Amino acid sequence: MKKSVTQVWENCLAIIKDNVNEQSFKTWFSPITAVKLDGSVLTIQVPSQFFYEWLEEHYISLLKKTIRKELGAEGRLEYNIVMDNVLSSKQPYTVRIPGSSSNGTKNEPVAMPVDLNSSTIKNPFIIPGLRKMNVDSQLNINYTFENFIEGECNRLARSAGFAVSNKPGGTSFNPLLIYGGVGLGKTHLAHAIGIQVKNNHPEKTVLYVSSEKFTQQFIDSIKNNSSNDFVHFYQMMDVLIIDDVQYFAGKERTQDVFFHIFNHLHQTGKQLILTSDKAPVEIQGMEQRLLSRFKWGLSADLQVPELETRIGILHKKLYADGIELPKDVVEYLAYSITSNVRELEGALISLLAQSSLNKKAITIDLAKLMIDKFVKNTAREVSIDYIQKVVCDYFELPIELLKSKTRKREVVQARQIAMYFAKTMTKSSLANIGMHCGGKDHATVLHACRTVNNLMDTDKRFKAYITELDKKISIQ
Ligand code: ADP
Ligand code: MG
Repeated sequence: MKKSVTQVWENCLAIIKDNVNEQSFKTWFSPITAVKLDGSVLTIQVPSQFFYEWLEEHYISLLKKTIRKELGAEGRLEYNIVMDNVLSSKQPYTVRIPGSSSNGTKNEPVAMPVDLNSSTIKNPFIIPGLRKMNVDSQLNINYTFENFIEGECNRLARSAGFAVSNKPGGTSFNPLLIYGGVGLGKTHLAHAIGIQVKNNHPEKTVLYVSSEKFTQQFIDSIKNNSSNDFVHFYQMMDVLIIDDVQYFAGKERTQDVFFHIFNHLHQTGKQLILTSDKAPVEIQGMEQRLLSRFKWGLSADLQVPELETRIGILHKKLYADGIELPKDVVEYLAYSITSNVRELEGALISLLAQSSLNKKAITIDLAKLMIDKFVKNTAREVSIDYIQKVVCDYFELPIELLKSKTRKREVVQARQIAMYFAKTMTKSSLANIGMHCGGKDHATVLHACRTVNNLMDTDKRFKAYITELDKKISIQ
């Protein structure tokens, strides 16, 4: 029986869903639509060139496997890329990639369209008294890319930001909207992009401004009858960074003037970088025409950093301040403070302050005492990382082994136990647990849970291990 294009793609999605975490699935697979099935060639439509490149770079092997599973060894995948840009015609174009590497077909990419931003309109404004060189960018020199630790939590936003800083206005991420909860590094990253643009292109005019300040300046300009100057000033920027745009919510006139500035800059190939504490769809009280413009480029979120990144951030901070801390103290901090980076830094500062006030050395005990006060009110959810650490300490295994793919017997069992606790003590999905434990799939995690349950029923000593570990993990 011949399968329909939707049917085939739905089957593919089901497989993909089990192999990537929820966030990645939402970001990279939900927006795809399947458009055509021609024999064994499936055509999918993706929203942008960047999107296509990201899929290719990160998911190509999964896509290949999935397509072959669904369409057989001859299965191939083609992309339609919608150029999501005002200046472009809305014609999708196709890029071919071989769905199978073994059948010898040639990879024939269709020529990319010419740079869409090349047809820029020259700035028609001549502004007396305002010399470009005189604009102070308002950038915080400490918030560099160098100081911004990379992790899974920020990879997309960081790499898109980096791309933008190399070619401001010349990528499809315009605007680049960085969103995420408080203290996750939006402001830092926004400055980092600005600083990097200045390093790469000293002639460009860059301006960082908070939405609050922008709003205040606008109100003042109305009072002083100088709102034209206000608009002209902002329209002069090559790169405009506006922090916390959610603050514009409910401020109609500010939104209105921002809309005009936005359009002007975008049409003339200038770069906009925006941050928000919410995803565009969740910002209430924002005009539709603005929201839809936010979606023209790329919206990239910042997630809560994973353990390695938190440790990295602490080390960077200590190094910058020339302070040394015992390794176990740093790790304990990173294990315990999981909410956001600002809190993590706050905890570190309190700890340093405590120790210098009381003239006590910073030991793990002092850290525990302090942290327990610090996070007393926030119910701590056990994390997969923490479970892995306790299990590894218990069996005296290096954590890297547990996270590796090794099938050594003692590692396999410890890994299964960690999976079991992760399943029973956290809200993580099977796929996510698998990903943290040596890149296994959900079926492996399920199998591990069954094995542990069986062993507990049949092996008293094993059962005793589990009870003891359970206690250790619960009273973290
Ligand atoms: P937001 O604007 O999202 O509320 P900030 O950019 O102000 O957050 O970040 C809060 C603090 O955390 C800052 O001191 C920042 O330098 C630090 N920070 C956040 N993410 C990182 C990271 N990935 N690497 C290093 N420091 C970070
Ligand atoms: Mg901020």
